[in-house]
Amino acid sequence: MKAIVVERLGPPNVMEVREIPVPQPGEGEIRIQVEAVGINFADVLAVAGQYLTRTRVPYTPGMEFAGIVESLGEGVSNVRVGQRVACLGGTGALAKYAVARAAAVIPVPENFTGAQAAAFPVSYFTAYHGLKTLGRGQPGEWVLVQAAAGALGTASVQLAKAMGMNVIAMASTEEKLQLARDLGADVTLLQDDPDRVQKVRDAAGGKGVPLILEVVGGPRFQESLDMAAGQGRIIVIGNASREDAHLRPVELMKRNLTVTGLWLTSLMNDRAATVAAAQALTPLVASGQVTPQVGPTYALADSPRAFQDILDRKTTGKVVIEP
Ligand code: NDP
Repeated sequence: MKAIVVERLGPPNVMEVREIPVPQPGEGEIRIQVEAVGINFADVLAVAGQYLTRTRVPYTPGMEFAGIVESLGEGVSNVRVGQRVACLGGTGALAKYAVARAAAVIPVPENFTGAQAAAFPVSYFTAYHGLKTLGRGQPGEWVLVQAAAGALGTASVQLAKAMGMNVIAMASTEEKLQLARDLGADVTLLQDDPDRVQKVRDAAGGKGVPLILEVVGGPRFQESLDMAAGQGRIIVIGNASREDAHLRPVELMKRNLTVTGLWLTSLMNDRAATVAAAQALTPLVASGQVTPQVGPTYALADSPRAFQDILDRKTTGKVVIEP
């Protein structure tokens, strides 16, 4: 079968299409014919060797995908052949077929396409945990969403609005801000607006923002501290700038700020939090209040371009590759 193979870590053009053997499902596993793979910033970092965990080569990237169950390994009874499922975790999805643990697959709502299913788990579970589990957001409260037109950003704007929150959305272009407005953002601001700190503080009633979903990092992290209200919560979810940030704990003390890290991979081990997130998201999906924003879609051979477009900040919504 055709698959993307990475032999050495580096920029997106290290990815190559190769012929590799079709994977066989072991006990408790299923083989899925891959329809769509959601590409996350984490995939780009993993190929570059800059992710939170070590990337072992050679490997086939692709951690979030949807497809049709094609064969069952021994002892599998919770899914049937022909069913559409979504999967999260591991690697290997940038291929015609991928193998997953049957216990870990997510049934796909009937109103979702394969691409929407592949665009859902990472962004919406992360958004929920940022806004609610760790962010403790309340209806009527203001939240600042950075990179608001991206995959996580669009999910965060939609979900915050569905939860009754007021949203300030930041992004790098007017076109991206328009998407955030279309999804319900109350206030939008260019990421490079020279008066952004004051404008954000003013938008949230003059006292700063009680909740910030921080994904850019680097020197922008200090700005997030400046934009936060007293007793504000800053949830550190990403570091898209790939630059270091510096934190003086005494600054948190002076303004009673809380900085909390969020990594979905480790939070998924918290079963109670995962079940609570799924229970909260299910009715919002069923009612259409949240709809995954599928961004540009690429063929398998165009995977390097898809990854480069994310790095170059050219994309909105979730980038999808259809092998
Ligand atoms: P996106 O689709 O949002 O793409 C990344 C966006 O980051 C770009 O579109 C761009 O938006 C913004 N950005 C800001 N500065 C830079 C920069 N220097 N280089 C490139 N992009 C930049 O990707 P994801 O939704 O996958 O991820 C968004 C962020 O959230 C990432 O930092 C990612 O690592 C993090 N994340 C973390 C998770 C976790 O578990 N902790 C889970 C999911 C995502 P703009 O042009 O508007 O600035």
